[in-house]
Amino acid sequence: MRIVITGGAGFIGCHLCEKFLKNGDYVVCVDNLLTGSASNIAHLKKEKRFKFIKHDVTKFIKIDGSVDAILHFASPASPIDYIKLPIQTLKVGSLGTHNALGLAKAKKSKFLLASTSEIYGDPLVHPQKESYWGNVNPIGPRGVYDEAKRFAEAITMAYHRIHKIDTKIVRIFNTYGDRMRLNDGRVVPSFVYQALKGKPITVFGNGKQTRSFCYVWDLVDGISRLLMSPINDPVNIGNPMEYSILQFAKIIIRLTGSKSKIIFEKLPVDDPKVRQPNISRAKKYLKWTPKVSIEEGLEKTISWFKGKV
Ligand code: NAD
Ligand code: UDP
Repeated sequence: MRIVITGGAGFIGCHLCEKFLKNGDYVVCVDNLLTGSASNIAHLKKEKRFKFIKHDVTKFIKIDGSVDAILHFASPASPIDYIKLPIQTLKVGSLGTHNALGLAKAKKSKFLLASTSEIYGDPLVHPQKESYWGNVNPIGPRGVYDEAKRFAEAITMAYHRIHKIDTKIVRIFNTYGDRMRLNDGRVVPSFVYQALKGKPITVFGNGKQTRSFCYVWDLVDGISRLLMSPINDPVNIGNPMEYSILQFAKIIIRLTGSKSKIIFEKLPVDDPKVRQPNISRAKKYLKWTPKVSIEEGLEKTISWFKGKV
């Protein structure tokens, strides 16, 4: 296949580029490096089947030749990024998704949207099933991301229904691994960095809020299965093992052997109180379950971060 990956120089995007190259596919990575980095894909540039195009996908996307699939991953993804870049986030989720769908229509290719557990907002149903419509504050600071992704899902389904494009929507739950930015503010890089430096671990609120963490290899496996499946409805991909953030801080301290103390800071506005994927749809239709335990995934991640700190 010849696959276009928008946001391919970002954390998840670069793992996807690698996955499909390893598979023997051709990969065209389109990224404006807003929150991603050329260093994430530097090692791929010598590969003949890999091409990088520096481009902002909120502008018309021009790709020569045939395209079999488009994976649309461009978007700021960390709360501090999208709160700092609200308009870019809204534009890439709306205009960027429209352009990527337009390319899929022109090339008669499959289309896969990177959606998110954030579309469930601060959920009133737990764990979250795909049939749950969510509880989102549209005008809060996180609304720029949540609503952009909700719009992206809506326009993806409209292109599927009206233009008969073979579209997929993956709702990604918190994913971690190497090549996350040390300072992207998300909990895994923040805690690992703080623990490795012996700095205080900053738990927001009382730390009772929960998240469920998926290792990036499991996620890319789920995404490639979804791409090859006949499913057009959204599918949750995440690891259902749920931890409170305080528990998670203690796991990081244990695995890094750090002497860092835990301190408590203000909880960000609209921070979801609970989050855990119901993955029965992925299990049933994609025969997918996560394989990497939290210890194994964090050990790999910590050893990668050790080289950066
Ligand atoms: P990331 O910030 O590392 O990657 C996003 C990439 O998109 C970056 O390389 C950035 O430069 C690029 N980008 C942003 N705006 C662009 C534009 N206008 N044109 C071209 N490129 C642009 O984030 P990530 O964690 O790899 O997330 C990738 C995707 O997965 C995002 O769509 C995000 O919403 C989704 N997602 C991620 C997670 C997670 O836990 N990592 C969870 C849910 C959803
Ligand atoms: N968090 C924290 N300390 C930090 C960074 C994050 O306690 O230094 C918390 C945050 O408030 C949230 C959880 O960790 O409850 C996950 O945050 P992240 O930014 O990784 O992503 P989210 O799941 O909120 O999108």
